Amino acid sequence: MADMDLTPDTLAVWAGEEASRAHGATQVPIVYSAAYGYADVESWLDVALGRAPGHIYSRNTNPTVSAFEEKVRILEGAEAATSFSTGMAAVSNTLFALLAPGDRVVSAKDTYGGTNQLFVDFLPRIGVRVDLCDTSDFEQIEAAIAEGCRLVYLETPTNPTLKVMDIARLAAAAHEVGALVVADNTFATPINQNPLALGADLVLHSATKFLGGHADALGGVLCGAPELSAKVYHYREITGASLDPMAAYLLVRSLKTLALRVRRQNENALTIARWLEAQPAVAVVNYPGLESHLHHDVAVRQMRGFGGMLSFGLEGGFEAVKRVLPRLRLAHLAANLGAVETLAGVPATTSHVECTMEERAAMGIPEGLVRYSVGIEDAGDLMRDLEQAFAVA
Ligand SMILES: *Cc1c(COP(=O)(O)O)cnc(C)c1O
Repeated sequence: MADMDLTPDTLAVWAGEEASRAHGATQVPIVYSAAYGYADVESWLDVALGRAPGHIYSRNTNPTVSAFEEKVRILEGAEAATSFSTGMAAVSNTLFALLAPGDRVVSAKDTYGGTNQLFVDFLPRIGVRVDLCDTSDFEQIEAAIAEGCRLVYLETPTNPTLKVMDIARLAAAAHEVGALVVADNTFATPINQNPLALGADLVLHSATKFLGGHADALGGVLCGAPELSAKVYHYREITGASLDPMAAYLLVRSLKTLALRVRRQNENALTIARWLEAQPAVAVVNYPGLESHLHHDVAVRQMRGFGGMLSFGLEGGFEAVKRVLPRLRLAHLAANLGAVETLAGVPATTSHVECTMEERAAMGIPEGLVRYSVGIEDAGDLMRDLEQAFAVA
């Protein structure tokens, strides 16, 4: 298939499965075997030393898990991929595998709450210095990078204020000082944005979100150049945060509809964001697809669609949010996003549940913001649901 120049829609359905299928089955099997047997020591050694393809032990590699890695690798246009038990395992294994005491990291204040905890607590404990900049101020980030650093960590769009970071611009600044660029592409998905094509060295995902899309499997994945991916893979194979074969199976199955789901979520979110802007109960709407977004021009340049995530503030503040959310009939109030069903929540219970109120305030995350993950339902139905809920605001 590699010679066919296929679109992501087709690749999401077909790519990456061949080596993991068996017995003529048209679908990738769930292989629940801890280890793989060999008839003799020579052929076992060939696989162990990487001279022949195959599997040894499922903490290291597993056929179902390999199919998931291959599919995402191809969708991100990468040479190599490594999967993890969760998105946070992908983030933490990447950072701990690539950083050493004395290294400096430049990132932004608005990263995912768990990632922020790594930056403000876990990495400083091993002597890694972390400089967190204003997410929207590219000049400030460039200046911090220019002081010299080992790694630049980007996340765009961000959670929950949907800020956009200019990947090409910041990657160029990072490469001037010889730093590696890691980008969390969870919100955009490979359908809307490919950070590697924009200059990032590594791209990672919480597969729990849009890649899985059905809120029933946890996972993470990292894609990039073979040497970098291998370094992180080795760290994961030893520390052990491997993806479970059942989760890998669910993720492979879900990825087949990724393009369909994400395009529908893009359309729904843009329609709803525009409608929200015109609602008297709504004080502010954050969505990269709106002309009013601070970095709409950057979003247009680096994204093919603006994603299914938006957030909004209500005129009545946190008190209004507490009255409105329970009235939503077409949204789970739950700490997840990217699913086929719409979800709503506030930062204190979702993206930044890991942080204290003071930490959220320091990151510029308002308590009274509603994070709204738009599903694949009918946009008109969702707007009617929001309208009836706003009536109590
Ligand atoms: C959810 C999320 C993560 C963490 O993923 P888990 O699968 O929950 O561990 C990391 N980054 C972003 C942007 C996320 O939304």
